[in-house]
Amino acid sequence: MSSSTSYKEFYQQSIDQPDAFWREQAKLIDWHKPFEQTCDFSRPPFAKWFVGGETNLCYNAVDRHAAKRPNDKALIFISTETDTEQVYTFAELQREVERMAAIYQSLGVTKGDRVLIYMPMIAEACFAMLACARIGAIHSVVFGGFASGSLATRIDDAQPKLMVTADAGMRGGKAVPYKHLVDEACALAQTPPQKVLIVDRGLDKGFPKVAGRDVDYAELRAQHLDAQVPVTWLESSEPSYILYTSGTTGKPKGVQRDTGGYAVALASTMKHIYCGGEGETMFSTSDIGWVVGHSYIIYGPLLAGMATIMYEGTPLRPDAGIWWQIVEKYKVNVMFSAPTAARVLKKQDPAYMHKYDLSSLKHLFLAGEPLDQPTHEWIMGELKIPVIDNYWQTETGWPILSTVRGVEDTKLKFGSPSFPVYGYNLKIFREDGSVCDANEKGIVGIVPPLPPGCLSTVWGDDDRFVKTYFSLFTEPQVYSSFDWGIKDDEGYHFILGRTDDVINVAGHRLGTREIEEAVQGHSAIAEVAVVGVNDALKGQMPMAFAVVKDAARVATPELRQQLEKEVMAKVDESLGAIARPSRVHFVTGLPKTRSGKLLRRSLQALAEGRDAGDMTTIEDPSSLEQIKQALAG
Ligand code: ATP
Ligand code: MG
Repeated sequence: MSSSTSYKEFYQQSIDQPDAFWREQAKLIDWHKPFEQTCDFSRPPFAKWFVGGETNLCYNAVDRHAAKRPNDKALIFISTETDTEQVYTFAELQREVERMAAIYQSLGVTKGDRVLIYMPMIAEACFAMLACARIGAIHSVVFGGFASGSLATRIDDAQPKLMVTADAGMRGGKAVPYKHLVDEACALAQTPPQKVLIVDRGLDKGFPKVAGRDVDYAELRAQHLDAQVPVTWLESSEPSYILYTSGTTGKPKGVQRDTGGYAVALASTMKHIYCGGEGETMFSTSDIGWVVGHSYIIYGPLLAGMATIMYEGTPLRPDAGIWWQIVEKYKVNVMFSAPTAARVLKKQDPAYMHKYDLSSLKHLFLAGEPLDQPTHEWIMGELKIPVIDNYWQTETGWPILSTVRGVEDTKLKFGSPSFPVYGYNLKIFREDGSVCDANEKGIVGIVPPLPPGCLSTVWGDDDRFVKTYFSLFTEPQVYSSFDWGIKDDEGYHFILGRTDDVINVAGHRLGTREIEEAVQGHSAIAEVAVVGVNDALKGQMPMAFAVVKDAARVATPELRQQLEKEVMAKVDESLGAIARPSRVHFVTGLPKTRSGKLLRRSLQALAEGRDAGDMTTIEDPSSLEQIKQALAG
């Protein structure tokens, strides 16, 4: 892969000559009208990319490939829940998107209108997103796991003209109602949509219909089978979508994405980071409700002319080999998942992985939360391919820290997402605004302008955009990631946790991530969460909740005590006694959102005897019960 340019040079050019650099990247997409200016940063911190240029995301993701390679695979829909597999070529995908776009138009949706998509992982969800892009409507995809209250908040913020949903999704063999929740949310919302378009999968027979508001997708599709809907060209900075952040740390923010910058950024990452192109297949195990789903299930792979897999199901059904079976069957070249999924698989028999021919697979990318060293080492050892840690955020839409293998095959370090990605003028800052030395912990910040594709603002709230992200120090104006990080002597970066995940023990500031890494250093531990708990004497004390690999290790109170001592000793050894958890509770699962993010706030609340808070997206509610019992015991 390595060419004559080193990554260092490539990166430096992106920072020193952004104009020339991004002009070159902009060639990766088709422009209806060329842009006049690469970046307009006359109103910092707001940046506009490829000013005056006109393009369209759907055209670049679908039409241009359909014109050249109509019969190549574009979308592969697999549901192990309903036992369905359906492959759409680029020509077929374009036809379906045009039908959906015609339906939208028949319902009065035009450029700039919002369409809220609340759907399971089915092909129609992909059509629904691309149809918005085609006609310049702004989609707001809300993760199907959110309950009606959270959905209502997002309805009121985005004020959609139309909502698209399905009767139900399926998870672990059980139907999960969607339409029903939409009805509830519409009743709660101040500004409910005029129309609700329903894909009836026949999973929730007899769901109630609201006359005059609810319309049936199959019925309308039949009326628009031959629809031809030309693309609406958008000025580069016109919005493509709104996506709310996960809400791990409070009220979710509506990230507003542009059109041209996003298209260029994604196309460039497909080339340089994910190394995927025409005729190849990408499998991202995320959900369209998250940013990874937007960027690397839908837009990224399709922009690059790859086939993309949409998978409805869990990693463990019918058995822990299902992902690898899919890799073999569809000759997947690039795979993208989350560290939490890797940890789930680590608890299974590796034979499931080795049963299949995985020789098509070039890389596995993991993102969304810290990838601990033991898991990183384990999965790379099993797969025998590079496993690449990506650090990024809903806000940025694409990786901030990564190995950029399309430019240079730099060495990987376990536990590190490597280097700042081109375009990001990233530095680690002290709290006074000065820049940290190597090996000194600080806040990960980005000197604006943010590169193309990052959030242009917070939907409907420019003020909140500036106040939330750019108010770390008065001088210089820097984008704050709200994450702690460190850069080592060789320029490798490590993320040490969120700035609000710091524990203050008797005046010592400790990152929860560091303590978690130390606990994980004990070979019996599969997974751990550390939170700070109020302590009358020391301010706060770390408390650990750990999942063991082998339940036999904690089968009796004596064994539990023994292991707890060993874990504490491990922390003493790597960080010092100051970081030693006051208690190590052993549980069989940790409370997480369905996107795999640890609900640390809730753990902390429970440990401090408070209410766990909003739990609507929790993956496994029984994990909370266990925590309560462990704390009581
Ligand atoms: P909210 O901002 O609403 O509280 P969130 O931050 O969880 O929610 P996301 O944008 O989905 O929402 O997550 C981004 C965050 O996830 C990062 O800021 C970082 O804390 C964490 N993260 C993502 N990737 C990595 C990684 N590779 N290593 C460590 N942490 C990561
Ligand atoms: Mg965040």
